[in-house]
Amino acid sequence: MNDTPHPYDAIIIGAGFAGLYQLHSLRRLGMKVRVLEAAQDIGGTWFWNRYPGARCDVESLDYSYSFDNALQQEWSWSERYATQPEILRYVHHVADRFDLRRDIQLGTRVASAVFNEATSRWLITTQAGEAFDAQYCIMATGCLSIPQAPQFPGLENFKGHWYHSADWPHEGVDFRGKRVGLIGTGSSGVQMTPEIAAHADHLTVFQRTANYSVPAQNEVFTPEDVAQAKANYGGRRARARETHTGHYLIANDKSAMEVNDEERTKEFEFRWRGAGGGFRMLRAFNDLMVNKPSNEKAGEFVRGKIRQTVIDPVTANLLCPKEDLPFGTKRLCVDTDYYETFNRPNVSLVDVKADPLVQATATSLRTQSGKDYPLDIIVFATGFDAMTGAVKAIDVRGRGGQRLADTWAGGPRTYLGLAVAGFPNMFILAGPGSPSVLSNVVHSIELHVDWLTQCLANARAGGVKSIEALQSAQDQWVEHVNEAANRTLYPIANSWYLGANMPGKARVFMPYVAGIPAYRKIVTEVADKGYEGFVLG
Ligand code: NAP
Repeated sequence: MNDTPHPYDAIIIGAGFAGLYQLHSLRRLGMKVRVLEAAQDIGGTWFWNRYPGARCDVESLDYSYSFDNALQQEWSWSERYATQPEILRYVHHVADRFDLRRDIQLGTRVASAVFNEATSRWLITTQAGEAFDAQYCIMATGCLSIPQAPQFPGLENFKGHWYHSADWPHEGVDFRGKRVGLIGTGSSGVQMTPEIAAHADHLTVFQRTANYSVPAQNEVFTPEDVAQAKANYGGRRARARETHTGHYLIANDKSAMEVNDEERTKEFEFRWRGAGGGFRMLRAFNDLMVNKPSNEKAGEFVRGKIRQTVIDPVTANLLCPKEDLPFGTKRLCVDTDYYETFNRPNVSLVDVKADPLVQATATSLRTQSGKDYPLDIIVFATGFDAMTGAVKAIDVRGRGGQRLADTWAGGPRTYLGLAVAGFPNMFILAGPGSPSVLSNVVHSIELHVDWLTQCLANARAGGVKSIEALQSAQDQWVEHVNEAANRTLYPIANSWYLGANMPGKARVFMPYVAGIPAYRKIVTEVADKGYEGFVLG
């Protein structure tokens, strides 16, 4: 253990999109800042998730920083939806361009963060025992950072290899000549399926819940596309800021129920074939996520597409999401040739809701009924302890030694998704209680970082040493977040938005669903009113 902790104005935990921009912004205030990153390199999510086919489901022109016009003018995206390697190259470019690396400490996993009430400062200690003393502790830990995999008994004896989508070997995996079992049909599994199928001897997809997937309609940009995008970048960003989710898209302002069948199908077709992408599909009508009959029309449309695409009717039927899962209430998947892949002779689909996987043997996965699926490679695309997992993995202790993990035992409680009562001078970027994962998360990150940077600048100018959310303000915010969610269909699904994918996790809808413009208005008003709902000490 280091006796004298290194003193900083702020410690930022995580060197993904959020941590990097927060570092850059606080440095501009003249603050002494250090970023602690567990991985061996920067990039956060995009460092870890390097599975075959990994790509962002937000368009590259939106899923990128907007804070510096020169940056967006000099960087050229090659595709509408960037691959993981391209996004990682972009992150490295940003780090180099703004000389960020000198304040980032890699390979450093934070073990604890303890608030000192006498000094209003945080003592942040790494797993290696190094200690940092900082006025502010900023969690840029990401929403999807703690991989989650079922603990199959016998996996330790499996003679083949197994991998999780979010902890993929850097050297890649050679699927040639192999029998591969893929567990999970969320965004990661859906992206991997066509890629693995193209190389493996045989791919068995183990599906528990059929989810909805829509085609990305990805395309390679021509030099003209890029030039045009750059010429219009200011306008694109301005429009994206005003959409519900912070993406550049056209939202239809009609209800799916106020148009006739022909017009409805035309709109869905336009979004399926032409515009592509999940967020565009969700905005095909203004009430898909709040009105069951409208939502069901979207569900029917996708099921129709699946039945048209998949030749074997039994497989098609199994791939069709059931009517008790409203369209889009689990994160809508965005794919390239997912459903088409099930027409390949080397791909089979297994229903593990009907007959769950229960154990691994030396050579297979076994279901409850005793059926064995012989495999050489098992791929877990089984998701994450989302939104709270990474923060709770750190032993965070606030006022009176209270543990954040205890405070959040019944679900995350924040004020504005930014701060937690009882944990002064600690902030969370794009976490629970904010639009976060329901939005273009890079936009949400920029919104949070800009807000927080201004808040800390004002605090410094005003001699404020401690910023703490009021319990009453937090309670009201949590209630508001819940009310907003309960006005939608989202809470119906057993999704990771609710923590329902994690055994024992409290079922609470975590992101703020009312959209970016509404959220921006609220946080701006809070700041304008002298940080209403916070105690500045
Ligand atoms: P996920 O959406 O949580 O999907 C996990 C899958 O694993 C689900 O199909 C789940 O089934 C299944 N599963 C879990 N445990 C299982 C078990 N014991 N047996 C059988 N199946 C099991 O995880 P993800 O696909 O990694 O995606 C997480 C999030 O990351 C996405 O929603 C998205 O926000 C983000 N992401 C984005 C992209 C992109 O930008 N294109 C790509 C990948 C990920 P149930 O549904 O029945 O629980």
